Amino acid sequence: MDRLVLWDIDGTLLRSYGFGVELFAAAMRAVVGPLPPGRPAMAGKTDRQIATEWLAALGATGDTALVEQVLAALAEAVRGAAPELRGRSRVLPGVEAVLERLARAGVAQSVCTGNLAANAAVKLRCFGLDRWLDLEVGAFGDHHVDRRALVPLALAARLRRDGSAPPAGAVWVVGDTPNDLAAARSAGARCLLVATGNTRWAELAALRPDAVFGDLGEEHAVATVLAS
Ligand SMILES: [Mg+2]
Repeated sequence: MDRLVLWDIDGTLLRSYGFGVELFAAAMRAVVGPLPPGRPAMAGKTDRQIATEWLAALGATGDTALVEQVLAALAEAVRGAAPELRGRSRVLPGVEAVLERLARAGVAQSVCTGNLAANAAVKLRCFGLDRWLDLEVGAFGDHHVDRRALVPLALAARLRRDGSAPPAGAVWVVGDTPNDLAAARSAGARCLLVATGNTRWAELAALRPDAVFGDLGEEHAVATVLAS
């Protein structure tokens, strides 16, 4: 059967250790000026959702033009930070080996990420991970505010481009937060969670995803699950 694996990026393929938060804050400042302390939780959210919530916390509820300005500023911030990204982020254990194994097994791979499409491309290219990922048919954080809408958007992109797409039951979503699981579940896809972000293994396991790993270092086991 036609298989598809949709990867989350931050906390799953890469970690940026606060750099992503810094860049988002810079984008907010570029649009609204100096920021008071505090920010919305970011893990597992789309960049569109984070921008919307952060602006709302500053009193700009429902200002869609400002949201667009923040997203444009965020794309500019990440593009400008590309030279620094390599030094401030790292690829998580097992990632390259799993991507390679799945590619060799003929499993199609793309992303289901809260990142803006442009930023996902910058981050993945920085580490050469884009060679295994078909980004043309991914779903990204500029496409919808709600992560739960993203898996159907990825399948629609695939259908538009190729004239066919796998059924949701043949799709695995891989992520590091409860929101990744919610995105998979609402689409009828399966979900593998990995505890390399900020949510601990026990908390992820308690959500009863289809599979859960501490990290992707058990490459053979992880690839076997994702090719099933
Ligand atoms: Mg993540």
